[in-house]
Amino acid sequence: MTARDAAIRLDRLDQFPAGLADIGPREIATLVPNPALITIPGEREDPLFVSTVLHGNETTSFYVLRELARKYRATPPPRSLMIFVGNVRAMAADVRYLPGQPDFNRIWADGDSPFHRLVHEVADAARERDAFASIDIHNNTGTNPHYGCVNALRPADLHLAAAFAPVGVFYKNPSTTQSIAFSQFCPAVTIECGQSGDRAGIAKALGLVEHVAALDHFPDHAPPKEAVRLYQTIGSVMVDPAASISFDDTEADLALRPDLEAMNFSDLEAGTYWATAREPARALRVVGEHGDDLTDRFFVADGARISLKRAATPAMITSDESVIRQDCLGYLMAPL
Ligand SMILES: [Zn+2]
Repeated sequence: MTARDAAIRLDRLDQFPAGLADIGPREIATLVPNPALITIPGEREDPLFVSTVLHGNETTSFYVLRELARKYRATPPPRSLMIFVGNVRAMAADVRYLPGQPDFNRIWADGDSPFHRLVHEVADAARERDAFASIDIHNNTGTNPHYGCVNALRPADLHLAAAFAPVGVFYKNPSTTQSIAFSQFCPAVTIECGQSGDRAGIAKALGLVEHVAALDHFPDHAPPKEAVRLYQTIGSVMVDPAASISFDDTEADLALRPDLEAMNFSDLEAGTYWATAREPARALRVVGEHGDDLTDRFFVADGARISLKRAATPAMITSDESVIRQDCLGYLMAPL
């Protein structure tokens, strides 16, 4: 075994680490030094799988884990819990992932790195125990409503999303996420709980875990349409890497409207203004799921002003320039 393999071994625990109920997220690696799979026996045997700390700078899942540790240290939960605690070292450093590490939510498909092998072991353990459902807890960088993401349109998956929030997203890409892997053998949802540490998001995430843990079974019919409005991703919106960007300065090469982030998950009409640009033809680009350029279908320039050519719903728009540069400005969605 190489030092690198040893550095990411999976610890298996059958109780919450002592002291977990009393620490903050940055101290997690003092009690959980490696990725860990914590199995807590409950009244019903087939476990609810809860995925936490896949991204080190998203603390909501840590606070949910801490609440579960407080609540179920002495009393058994209504259903067994299998809790994965992922990138503890990145959380100690308050970053999404560390240099040399992969993104812990992009390693759940085929692959042969030590990181892939570690999460395969986690998924195999959940499959062997016939997991009842899977909940993966995340945060957004921008202002978004709380929403759940599903990868299958089965009644149970839709119930998971609806029990969390009235807005949901269906996606198949990226195909390497935890929830896609788990959706192959149990109902699975990724919940986006607002910005890191958002108190309402923590309460809702914990509420969903408690709700599902107490369920005897999922209804065999889909929830009513109004219970969850589902969107599908059409493409990501990229900005011209050569352009200076701003949300409040009309002198920038690309001046985005200041309230763009506030429009996440609002259904926008054709003609809605987005930005003013020095080079409007190349300022914004829409890239489809398979890398295809969809810009001309969605944006139109009138002089320097860029507007929507057709109705679309922005989501996960962020005004954080480093995220815009590294990842994208956000996504365009359509109701499913
Ligand atoms: Zn995340």
